[in-house]
Amino acid sequence: MNPRDKIPWARRVKKNEIRRVYQHDAAGVRDVAEIDALGLALYLRCVDILCVKKAREGGGLRCPSCYLDESSPTETYIPYSGRFYRGMDEIALTCPACGFAFTNVEFYMSFRGRQLHSGGAAPAFEHFVHHFPAERDAVKKLLLIDRLITSFHYSLRSKPDWPTRSVGPNLIEGRLKDIIAFLDELSGTEKGRGGDEQQKTDMGGENFAPKNKKAVRTGRARTTRRRTGR
Ligand SMILES: [Zn+2]
Repeated sequence: MNPRDKIPWARRVKKNEIRRVYQHDAAGVRDVAEIDALGLALYLRCVDILCVKKAREGGGLRCPSCYLDESSPTETYIPYSGRFYRGMDEIALTCPACGFAFTNVEFYMSFRGRQLHSGGAAPAFEHFVHHFPAERDAVKKLLLIDRLITSFHYSLRSKPDWPTRSVGPNLIEGRLKDIIAFLDELSGTEKGRGGDEQQKTDMGGENFAPKNKKAVRTGRARTTRRRTGR
């Protein structure tokens, strides 16, 4: 087995899974099971993105075996410094609850290069993880999904309010360019629902999408910043 696969993470969703839900909604067909399936897949992905964040911040490594135990899933965290880098010394780790053995390097290799970094978008992932499981209304579930996938990473340091990149690649299969085109396609479908911005505001909390979404998606914000040196 590829050592990168020893510790599995939740998959990214396929564009078609999202497109189908949006198309059905635009046509007035509200398939709750379909919305739930998409929401669950996004929820599991967000949970894992936040798990990697926790590990990198020294909050411990989640035992994959306990977490994925179908009969009794639990979260067991093994203490670790949170320092991950190429060529680090290998440390053997054993889960005190189930005995599953892995190393810090295997853990690192499992998430490296797999779009599992929360970057500057942690609040968007946290918002979805916090609100989606408790939501019962299908329309609001769909709005939470829409709000999540159209969110952005923000610069953590010098310009905390400056949106830098779509969260799309963290959640959706494909390359950034294709995902941007796909999200623009969805905004066309979205118009059919009407009143979305107001509804998002009605749901409380901040919206993680900037006003000029398209400029940011296409990287214009970053280009401008480079040119102006801001
Ligand atoms: Zn375990």
